[in-house]
Parts: sequence; structure tokens; C-alpha cells
Amino acid sequence: MKEQGLKNVYDSEKFRERGHRLIDQLADHLEDKTTEKSHRAIHWNTPDEELRFWKDFLKNGEVDSMFSNMIARTTYVHHPHYIGHQVSPTAPLTALSGMISSLLNNGMAIYEMGMAPSAIERVVTDILCKKIGFDTNARGFLTSGGTLANLTALLSARKAKISHDVWNEGNSQQLGILVSEEAHYCVDRAAKIMGLGEQGIIKIPATDGYEMDVSQLESSYRNALKKGIHVFAIVGSAPSTATGVYDDLDAIAAFSEKYDLWFHVDGAHGGAAIFSEKYVHTVSGIDQADSVVIDGHKMMMMPTITTALLMREGKNANATFSQKADYLLTQEDHEDWYNSGKRTFECTKNMMSIHWYSMLKLYGESIFDDYLTHLYDMGGLFGEMIEKETDFELAVTPVSNIVCFRYIDPVMEMQDLNALNEKIRQKLLEDGTFYIVQTKLRTVHYLRTTIMNPLTTYAHLSLLLETIRKLATTILKE
Ligand SMILES: *Cc1c(COP(=O)(O)O)cnc(C)c1O
Repeated sequence: MKEQGLKNVYDSEKFRERGHRLIDQLADHLEDKTTEKSHRAIHWNTPDEELRFWKDFLKNGEVDSMFSNMIARTTYVHHPHYIGHQVSPTAPLTALSGMISSLLNNGMAIYEMGMAPSAIERVVTDILCKKIGFDTNARGFLTSGGTLANLTALLSARKAKISHDVWNEGNSQQLGILVSEEAHYCVDRAAKIMGLGEQGIIKIPATDGYEMDVSQLESSYRNALKKGIHVFAIVGSAPSTATGVYDDLDAIAAFSEKYDLWFHVDGAHGGAAIFSEKYVHTVSGIDQADSVVIDGHKMMMMPTITTALLMREGKNANATFSQKADYLLTQEDHEDWYNSGKRTFECTKNMMSIHWYSMLKLYGESIFDDYLTHLYDMGGLFGEMIEKETDFELAVTPVSNIVCFRYIDPVMEMQDLNALNEKIRQKLLEDGTFYIVQTKLRTVHYLRTTIMNPLTTYAHLSLLLETIRKLATTILKE
């Protein structure tokens, strides 16, 4: 029986009751996963099986088991065997702030629709700007994801560096950006949305170690100029997604300075290293950037989706979507920081700043150092473990918590090894004891792990290698 009537929808006692029950369920889930009472990181179902289940559930399922089914039939990011994609096991505190955002539903585009979270957003982004090493001209805002933030940054770059007003008048000139071939695909996508086309995405080759080969910057740039491409920006990855390797931001900063390019740092994953005493060196040069992206939902324990876009010159952020070309020069005194919709791509967004603020208030900045430092340490440790084994091989020595490796057998051909590692990963997925992912680097198939959970230990990683070894043996016997 469905509950009837709108009155029921807004019944505060029902909310209270259900809410208490749900919090208990979520806390049980958290306990089960973090203490490994349940052994699996994922209960794999095929998309078709899952679709069938939920179609049927809508007709025949018990309402009382709806939330518990939703919780159960997902991937368990809080399980120490979850070593897959780069989303955080959320700090449970931010699930609570998420609830505030969902219930209060202030749309944030203008100050009046989110007074506290707008002011809070200024507090939080000022802290991030300071941590990066920007001065007080810097400003930041929060937006819905690294993908959107990268696009927004490149739009700001175009506005700032191209003298004619592309935003209002369109463009007939071929514009371009420089970016490593290892950069996240969303940078390509952003450039294509901006109409740069394939031509305008000038790919800098990566070194054997997968970082941008900065020795090729000059020649790539000159080649682009020869073709009549007006290059206006360069993007550094901190780090690149596939391998977790950082580009040399100092070198890129110097290059961008020399040719007056906008320097954008895609720190969606590892920009949070600004908080780590031990690993801040990985982002050396970030203070020279014109814009920096940092995802809260990756290396900062927050729920999807919340991303900071920080700009060295705050006024550039105000100009991005401005209809008036001269806005940038005239509005110094009324920068209007509290109406975030002027600077964000999206109009409505959730009250995401309250996650950042809650973390800072309850745990302090040092919690971000603790989290990233520990996980990067674990990445290094896992790399050392793999190096010691004769039947495993690293793609590259890890410099973050992203570790790519594969199972090897000296008598096997490369094609067969690719197929073997692909099968290993599929069997791991179906088995569900561990959740890891995979990637192809220069035609070689690798298993890819990102250690996101501070509860993942040496013993778990050791068991993962042992599990893979056993699977490989079984597959080879088939
Ligand atoms: C994850 C990632 C992105 C995309 O960010 P989303 O928040 O998933 O949109 C962009 N760049 C890098 C380097 C990333 O790791």
C-alpha cells in the first residue's frame, strides 16, 4: 500500500522515525564494512540482473526493506578491500551535513538562497587559497565535480587571455591548449565543448614515467604557432588519473610565464597534497597557477560531489560568464562574492560547503594531512611489496596512492598477458572479495588500485596479491 496524500510526505514524525531507523542501518553498514564482518567489497550483479531486481522491487518489494536493499546492492567504499576508483570512503560526519543540504535544499545560486553556506563557502575557499600559497587577491568557489571545474577554469582562461570577446562574439580563430597525453579525458572534453577541436588540443608526450615531458614543450608550442593556432593555456595534472604521477608544475609554471599562457592545475585527485607536510613537494609550483581544481570527494573524505576551483586572481572568476566584456575592469568594489551563481557553471548546486566546514571545525586542517599522507605512504608501501615479487610487475613506481601493476609470467607473450590480467580483474569483480579496477597504458593491460581507505593495511594488500596469484593459476589451468 502506498502512503496517500501530500500531508504524509511532509509528516515530521514519520521523518523522525524513518530517519532514526536509517541512521541505525547506515551505522550498522559502516560497522560491518569497516570491521570486515562482511567479507566482500562488492556483491557483483550484471546490469541486467540489477535492472530486473529493481523493476520487480517497485511492484512487489517491501517498503521496509527498500533502504536496506539500496545500501546492500552497491559497492562498499568503506570496506578495506575496496581499492578501486578514486572516491573517498566518506567521513560519516559529512553524510550528516549531506542530510542538512538535502532537507534544507537552498539552491545556492544567489546569497538569499543559502546565506550560511554561501558565507561558509567563502571561509572554506579562502583557507584553500591560502594553503595553495595565493595572496589575498585570490578567490575560490565550489562546484559540481572536477570535470565541470576544469571546463570552468578553461573558460576563465579563454576570457582572460584571448583579447577578443569569444563569449559574446564567437570565434573564427583556431584556439588551443597544451596538455599532457596522460591528462584526464575531461580536459579533452572541455576543450571540445569550447570548440577547440582535435587541432586545438596540443598533446605533450609523456615520459617513460608517465609525466608530461616538459623538454618537448617548446617544440610543441612552436609547431602549434606555425599552424596558426593561438595557444592560451597549459594544463598540468596533479597527478594524472591513470598512474597517479604528477607533472612538473614548476617547469610548467616557468613555461606559462614565458609565453603568457594561463596555467591551470588539475589537482582533482591530488591537489589536497597542499595539506600534507610530507607530500606538499609533489605540488611544488602550484602557487604559480592561475587556477587550481581540488575534488573534495576524492582525497578529502567528502561525499560526491564537491569540487573547489581556486583562482589566483579572483576577478577572473567573476569575468568567466559575464555578459559584459568590461565587467572585469569596473566592478572591483562590488565583487559580489556571495552570489556564487555568477561564477559557477551550474545555476542550482547543493550546499556543499558545509561538508568542508564541518570537517575543518570538528577535526581541523590536520585531518586532511593525516588522510592523504597515510594513503600516499600506503601507495609507496604497496609499490615496494610488488617490486619484491617475481610474478608481479609495476607500471611505474607509485608517487601517490594510485598503484598500477600486473601479473606476469616470463614465458608468456604480451598479448596473452594482457588477456590474463583482464581475466583476473573480471574474476576478482565477480568474486567480490576485493574491488580493484584496470587500465591500459601504452598497449599494456594493468590492474589498477587506488588505496582510498585508511583502514586498508599491509595484510589486506598482501592478501590481494595472494588472491590474484591464485586466480592466475586457476585461469592458466582452464
Ligand atoms: C577524477 C578526476 C577528474 C574528474 O573529476 P570528477 O570530480 O570525477 O568530475 C579530473 N581530473 C583528474 C586528474 C581526476 O583524477
